Amino acid sequence: MIAIHKGAAPPALVRVGELHARELCDAYDADPETYRATKPMPVRKSIYTSDAVKAELETLHHGKCCYCETVIPKPYADSQVEHWRPKSSSRQNLDGERMRPGYYWLAYSWDNLLLSCSFCNKIKNDLFPLAEPATRARSHGMRIEDERPSILKPDGDNDPGDHISFWSEVPVGITQLGRKTIEVLGLDSLKHGPRLTHLAKIREARNLAIDLMGSTDPKARHHAALFRTFVEEAVQPEKPYSAMVIDYLRANPLPDLLA
Ligand SMILES: [Zn+2]
Repeated sequence: MIAIHKGAAPPALVRVGELHARELCDAYDADPETYRATKPMPVRKSIYTSDAVKAELETLHHGKCCYCETVIPKPYADSQVEHWRPKSSSRQNLDGERMRPGYYWLAYSWDNLLLSCSFCNKIKNDLFPLAEPATRARSHGMRIEDERPSILKPDGDNDPGDHISFWSEVPVGITQLGRKTIEVLGLDSLKHGPRLTHLAKIREARNLAIDLMGSTDPKARHHAALFRTFVEEAVQPEKPYSAMVIDYLRANPLPDLLA
């Protein structure tokens, strides 16, 4: 997970979203008991997954999942517009009671929208643990500012790199927030096998760069430079699993032998 900087909301989302969020709030106020029981809030997927919203999120997320940093293949058929605070229902943990409705009034809030892969979207589902569950905002009349979420927000105030580090391809929580985020999102799941494959590729390129650097053969040194560039560029935010590569190179820096 890396920090995501979102900026201003697409104007179309603000225009249509604010209007329909108001309708959702009015619907809830008219019949809160039913919506707290079983009736789902009529959230409109077409608003939060509009072409404008998806295109903006895909650009700002560098085409990657906001949680696991998997590159989502274009044309982004596998991408999901993710609600950080879940829109339909919420749970403290997998065994916890499903609280209805969810954060419906944030269903179209730019601040609450992220892009994720379908795997992370499915794992996170409606999980949204809080340090103090009693503070959970159950309706638009309550304050989300009183909540202390137990998981990281990729576009929030905390830099994920201060909370999660990587030992090889395995994410490890270095704070309680980091540990809980890994647990809730299953970031250490074996399903994240491509991360290991990617690290093997980076490791091999680094080793080849070092092996070839010492050669007097210009061709070998040229290849060393190419491998070095490949490794150095792998830490850029648009590259897959860049948080893992940053930690790998911190532990295994490339010697500066090519000068
Ligand atoms: Zn993911």
